[in-house]
Order: sequence, then C-alpha cells, then structure tokens
Amino acid sequence: MPSEHEIDLDPEEQAILRAWRLLVSKHYLEDIQHLQGNPGIIHGFEIAHRLVCDYEDLRMSFHLNPTRFHELGHQVMREQFDENMVRMRPIIRVVELDEDYHRRIDTLRMRDRNKVVSITVKINDISPSYGWVQEAVYECKRCKEQTTMKQRRARERESPSHCETCFARLLKRLDMEEEPYSVRPPRPQFVMSTEHSNYEDVQDIQMCQAVFSEEGELLHVSQEDEMVGVVSDDLVGELEKGSCARVNGIVRVEPFPNRTFSKDTRRVLSLQVLSVEVLEGEA
Ligand SMILES: [Zn+2]
Repeated sequence: MPSEHEIDLDPEEQAILRAWRLLVSKHYLEDIQHLQGNPGIIHGFEIAHRLVCDYEDLRMSFHLNPTRFHELGHQVMREQFDENMVRMRPIIRVVELDEDYHRRIDTLRMRDRNKVVSITVKINDISPSYGWVQEAVYECKRCKEQTTMKQRRARERESPSHCETCFARLLKRLDMEEEPYSVRPPRPQFVMSTEHSNYEDVQDIQMCQAVFSEEGELLHVSQEDEMVGVVSDDLVGELEKGSCARVNGIVRVEPFPNRTFSKDTRRVLSLQVLSVEVLEGEA
C-alpha cells in the first residue's frame, strides 16, 4: 500500500519503488525474516550489481541518481523490516559492479562528481570514527514547533530562516491571507534538539591506486595517485589499514581539508563509499 508521502512521487520514482519491492520480496525476504529478534542496530545487505540490472528502472536509477536509488531502496527495506518486526536499520551495499564502472584514481576529474565509480586501492590510513548530524531537528523557542533540515557532511550547519508556524500566526493576527511584501517573518529563534536529530557514524580513509592483474594478483601500488573517502555505518571499524580492496562509491567534491569551509573555495575529490570488497594480496 502506498504510504502518505508517496502520493507526491513522480511516475519515475514510483516505478523505481515498484522495482525495489519486486527485488526485495524475491531475493531478500527470507534474510529479513531471519533477522527477527536480532539485537544489532544496523544490517548491511550486499546486493550484486547484476541483480540490480535485472530491473531496468533500478539499473538506470543506480547509474543516473545513485543517492535517490539508495534512499528509495532503504525505504522499501524499512517497510519489510517493519512488517517482519525487525528493529534493525537496513543498509544497501551494491557490490561486483559492472566493468563499465571500473576506473583508476588518476583518471578521476571534477566532471565525474556524483558519478558511481569502482576503484582498486590499498588503504593507507583510517581515521578514528566520528559522528555527524545528518538531519538536524530544530525547535522554535516561541511555539515549540519542530523543523527537520538535512545537512551535508563537512559543511556549515544549516538552520531554518524562519518559523512557518509563527509566521502564519502573525499573518492571521494581521488578518492577511497572503504573504504581503511589507510583513517580514519573525526573527528565527531556534534551538537544535540533539535528542531528535539523526547522526551517522563515519570514518575518513586515505587510499591509493592498487593495480591487479586479470588473475587477481597485485601488480603494484602507486603512492602518487591518492584519494580520500568516507565510509559509514556498518563499514565503520571493519576496514584494515594496509589492506587492499575494491571500493565502490560516488565521487563527491569536498572542501579542502583543514580549512574554514565557508571562505576557502578550493575543492578536492572524495569518494562517498557505497561498498567495499576486500581483495587478497599484501601491499
Ligand atoms: Zn515558531
């Protein structure tokens, strides 16, 4: 049954949701049922890319808008978790990407931003884990109304410009239905609720290009071709420094590290890691 906010979705997104429901019910329902009573917090599902490609809507969505692809997939997974009374949070990890996604670090450019790529690397360094606010919940000090705002990692936190509820009340008091140009919304007085906000655990990783033969033998490691990446949730604490892996992710453009991000215009490429496949071979 479509949920309330689904009515606003365009036909394309509805098709993606339908495809996700087919994939999940056909291949993952049993796995989900087995999670009943599991005390864990997060469960990562590794889904082979060729399975995604069995559904044209999913194949296209993964390619063109991987962020939305994952959001809609998580929505469908959560529905199934709720139905089966599984209290964990599902995470989708697409693995074994088609060769068309295989890239080398030295070929990545700014124009690759928001594209999915798959690279083989040696992991040089891993930061301690830290949390960041993914969705900040702000409470209006006057009316106590809550507003949720999505945040971006490594950017300044965004808060609402004004409180809609207080503004509507003000207009009502003035007996005006439409927003007149002369009336400004009341100055915002928000406080962030740390209790209601959503946090994500992440680790920064430093990686460099590792080249493997077709037989899967490590040929060499290039210390010059370096890149940073961010792993989250169930991958936090799972990676080992010095190990080799195929890392699949979305290319992002991030502020230059260790700078005040509001003023500095320099940017570097980084990888929002979607999945990690550990490879054999000591580097
Ligand atoms: Zn208010």
